Amino acid sequence: MSRVYNFSAGPAVLPEEVLKEAADEMLDYKGSGMSVMEMSHRSKVYDNIIKEAEADLRELMNIPDNYKVLFLQGGASQQFAMIPMNLMKNKKAAYIITGQWAKKAWKEAQIYGDAVAVASSEDKTFSYIPDCSDLDIPEDADYVYICENNTIYGTKYKKLPNTKGHTLVADVSSCFLSEPVDVTKYGVIYGGVQKNIGPAGVVIVIIREDLITEDTLPGTPTMLKYKIHADADSLYNTPPAYGIYICGKVFKWLKKMGGLSVMKERNEEKAKILYDFLDQSKLFKGTVVKEDRSLMNVPFVTGNEELDAKFVKEAKEAGFENLKGHRTVGGMRASIYNAMPKEGVEKLVEFMREFEKNNA
Ligand code: PMP
Repeated sequence: MSRVYNFSAGPAVLPEEVLKEAADEMLDYKGSGMSVMEMSHRSKVYDNIIKEAEADLRELMNIPDNYKVLFLQGGASQQFAMIPMNLMKNKKAAYIITGQWAKKAWKEAQIYGDAVAVASSEDKTFSYIPDCSDLDIPEDADYVYICENNTIYGTKYKKLPNTKGHTLVADVSSCFLSEPVDVTKYGVIYGGVQKNIGPAGVVIVIIREDLITEDTLPGTPTMLKYKIHADADSLYNTPPAYGIYICGKVFKWLKKMGGLSVMKERNEEKAKILYDFLDQSKLFKGTVVKEDRSLMNVPFVTGNEELDAKFVKEAKEAGFENLKGHRTVGGMRASIYNAMPKEGVEKLVEFMREFEKNNA
């Protein structure tokens, strides 16, 4: 068996320890005589799995009691619709456009109401986070929406926007559990798990209880109502059971590692290795303004498309996978989520240094 260094933006690298444990339990989960994939989601054994996963996540993120944790499906993209359908009581919301995912969410919300773009960084290819200290947010906006870490462009909010008292809704798909967060600052925190937490197919929604109401937009399908899932503790229908089980294992791994403060330190250390190299390189260049750099997704270019392609090809041959930038921006992108070991980043930088020497 040989594992590569996988820099994919998602689905992405998971802790090896978790994968091994899952392999060990594949045929017989803790004496149940079956795989978690094969068991009823109504069984006692599974009930323990999902309850423990929720309890561990609550502990990791210090989630207050007046927030519900929902394990849903449909990917992060389904939340682009669920959020307005459930939260747009005044049919108005403010969106901050910092990349394609924020833009997609904004476009989707326009189907349901007046989704106003109150700031954007599209003028400079989303290479920075706009100043959000004094935005022109409509008085009657039901919420302010952000994509907190922009997977494609590699930017991250270092300071949350001043929402002027409005509910903050955040897509944290690509920075989920990468550092501590103050949950009380948000009305909704959500993300697909396939980057930092588990296999694709699970989306986690952390939502303040007062935002969960019967009062959804007319025509909202039952499956897209937060209340239906909240009242049933995420077991209204068959949940993505195996995926939740793996998420639970990753939560335990994170607790063992020391929790989110430790992850933040580790992530800062890893990102620094790569950014420091980029800042002194004569060949490679980071594409994001320094103060808004993501700890998770690091895009970079050589400035020459052919050389970019050569780099990606040679890197792959050397065991560094998925370094090609998103198809819409080109160049390279190294995603260095929680489970990417420091050694992976060090080896990548070593390889980049060598490539630079050979292609000067
Ligand atoms: N939001 C962000 C920040 C993402 O990175 C992605 C996926 N790359 C999505 C939303 C869409 O997620 P999904 O494919 O789970 O719908």
